[in-house]
Amino acid sequence: MPELYMVEYESLAHSNQPFMEELEATAVRVIRNGWYVLGQEVTAFEEEFAQYVGTRHCIGVANGLDALILSIEALDLPKGSDILVASNTYIATILAIVRVGHRPVLVEPDPSTFNIDPAGLPKAMTANTRAICVTHLFGKTCRMDAIGAFAREHGLKVVEDCAQSHGARLGTQMTGTFGDAGCFSFYPTKNLGALGDAGAIVTNDDALADRLRHTRNYGSKQKYVNRYVGVNSRLDELQAALLRVKLRHLDTMTAHKRALAEVYFAGLPDWIGTPKRRPDEFDVFHIYGIRYSRRDELRQHLLEHGVKTEIHYPIPPHRQEAMKGILSGDYPIADYLHSTELSLPISAGHTVQEVERVIAACHTFGHG
Ligand SMILES: *Cc1c(COP(=O)(O)O)cnc(C)c1O
Repeated sequence: MPELYMVEYESLAHSNQPFMEELEATAVRVIRNGWYVLGQEVTAFEEEFAQYVGTRHCIGVANGLDALILSIEALDLPKGSDILVASNTYIATILAIVRVGHRPVLVEPDPSTFNIDPAGLPKAMTANTRAICVTHLFGKTCRMDAIGAFAREHGLKVVEDCAQSHGARLGTQMTGTFGDAGCFSFYPTKNLGALGDAGAIVTNDDALADRLRHTRNYGSKQKYVNRYVGVNSRLDELQAALLRVKLRHLDTMTAHKRALAEVYFAGLPDWIGTPKRRPDEFDVFHIYGIRYSRRDELRQHLLEHGVKTEIHYPIPPHRQEAMKGILSGDYPIADYLHSTELSLPISAGHTVQEVERVIAACHTFGHG
């Protein structure tokens, strides 16, 4: 039997291949330069990323979770405030709220978009609610028009988890610009991925930005002068320099992913639930998440036909052991999504032919 050619879910070496020479030359330049943490490369990346997103400020930090923790902390809400968050978000959003000493209050998503359902916000409000933390899951913007209006009406702060939504837009506006702060991760698999851990916060709020420039670095902007009780969450020069290279190619990578998504939309069998689209949403498809009742069987079938897939995510936050005593209640939509979601390969390194193989493998599954 000939060896089966596998369509990988993701190969970072392959995705980074087009930029390899540029990345290698950049690494050598930074190594030889001799300045390794918070320097010219970080400052340049912060300026370039702020310009890309369309905010006045960008503050580089060590990772996406820290971006969330530091942003929520900088809002200076009373300890133990209620913060609304999607019941199906990646656990990091909820961990950040808990780490700062607040209480996550789960709001169910719209099952067709995976994003927090604005219609669920009024019911989740308490007298103690101070903020909404939205996640633009899988690279699709939340309905920031409705969410923003609700937040203004109730005087709530808004923090955006943009770890999966680099370059995603609602209308002409990019994710990260709707709320008080936009939190990005540049973990290697993200749409804009470093070659290690990295993150950033974007904001138009001068005071918030100034505070974050302190808190990421021991609460200090001036050496040995500490204004806040800060942490060490600095971005290093090497990652910043590599991110500058990849930022120049981000729109090309996004266009490629969007083209692959079009192939999926056109070719997948109609018994598969594909991501809902609206004309004013510019999706960047960090993940191409489908829904299907017999998800595990389909996943096995695809594997046997040479296609690797992922599940985002197998266990919803309210069923995680770490959340015992923190989250309670029933979240049937989160349960439904976590038991039916399957992520199909979609990356900068995949070809149209590979996506066509995935589609063909779906069509040979014995549905119904
Ligand atoms: C990846 C991710 C994070 C965390 O980013 P790290 O850089 O891994 O800390 C937070 N939220 C979401 C939605 C993510 O996908």
